[in-house]
Amino acid sequence: MTTALIHSEDWRRFDYGPQHPLRMERLGLTWRLMEAYGLTRLPGMVVRAPRPAEEREITIYHTPEYVEVLRAANAGAIPPRGAAYGLGPGDNPVFRGLWEAAQLVAAGSLLAADLVIAGEVDRAFHFAGGLHHAMPDRASGFCYVNDAVLAILRLRAHGLRVAYVDIDAHHGDGVQHAFYGDREVLTISLHERGERLFPGTGFVNEVGSGDAAGFSVNVPLEAYTDAAIYLPAFEAVVPPLLERFRPDVLVAQLGIDSHRTDPLTHLALDVQGFGRALARMLPLAPKVIALGGGGYDLRNVARAWTVAWAVLNGVELPATLPEAFTPDAQRYGFGDLELWDVPQEISPDLRAAVSEYAARQVDAVHRAIFPFHGL
Ligand SMILES: [Zn+2]
Repeated sequence: MTTALIHSEDWRRFDYGPQHPLRMERLGLTWRLMEAYGLTRLPGMVVRAPRPAEEREITIYHTPEYVEVLRAANAGAIPPRGAAYGLGPGDNPVFRGLWEAAQLVAAGSLLAADLVIAGEVDRAFHFAGGLHHAMPDRASGFCYVNDAVLAILRLRAHGLRVAYVDIDAHHGDGVQHAFYGDREVLTISLHERGERLFPGTGFVNEVGSGDAAGFSVNVPLEAYTDAAIYLPAFEAVVPPLLERFRPDVLVAQLGIDSHRTDPLTHLALDVQGFGRALARMLPLAPKVIALGGGGYDLRNVARAWTVAWAVLNGVELPATLPEAFTPDAQRYGFGDLELWDVPQEISPDLRAAVSEYAARQVDAVHRAIFPFHGL
């Protein structure tokens, strides 16, 4: 098996601003933990840096008018009509180099797709990618261009069947939107329920349109859902559908804002549960493109995506963080030097309610989706 880790030092040039929860430094921190574990020089892997995507590679999905506004925002000032395209103070700030950052994130996921299409690698991980909320003509939820959609469209242009599985705490609305009428792309998103969390969508009854009904799958989950509840729900939905769909390529969005300490969401996964969900997906497709996504507690981001890269390479990691990482661990307040989270119990009453909610949603998915697949 050959793998590619896609990483660019250029991310250090960009900054969403001091008040913004998306910290670019999480990428460098993740890279340094991977490096400390020896995961950046494994046999059979390559490290590749993307070159910025061309405008025409982005207008494959995004409208020329919107791309024009993103280019105009590159100098760091809000362009005229920026607000109409989702830009401005708040979630999608305008910062110096915004368009170059958009080109870079698109390029990383397109590079992952190209490496898989060319048969150069079996699995690729672009952990700066996974910006799943961007719409064709609008920035949304910290996302300016939808690198996941661009990668899937490139795979589709080569006739490949794609399953997209999104385990970010937020609904993968932008990717669902792009392929809502395309039965050659199966999208599955597990996320905190839309009544409680941005973007407010991702209900079971969003099943896809026309002959693509049944190819858009949503599993909303209650706050406090932990791995013990999450993993059985995942098991009841994802493997049966992927085994039936038989994708050529799995595109996995691995947001780790589903973690119990994430400051923006209310799910309660731990790094172990996150790793198990990824490990369960891998045998379901011959090729895998993994993308990053949300994650606003930097300590979780570094640990989870390091674990993801280890899982993608079939490597077991020592449970103690490597000596070489100690300066970062101290600087970022890792506390102990443990890779894995200490198990934490929720109260029995809460567990019963959260578990019952998950079981109801899974049941609804079985009724709304499975018949379209002869299940
Ligand atoms: Zn998220």
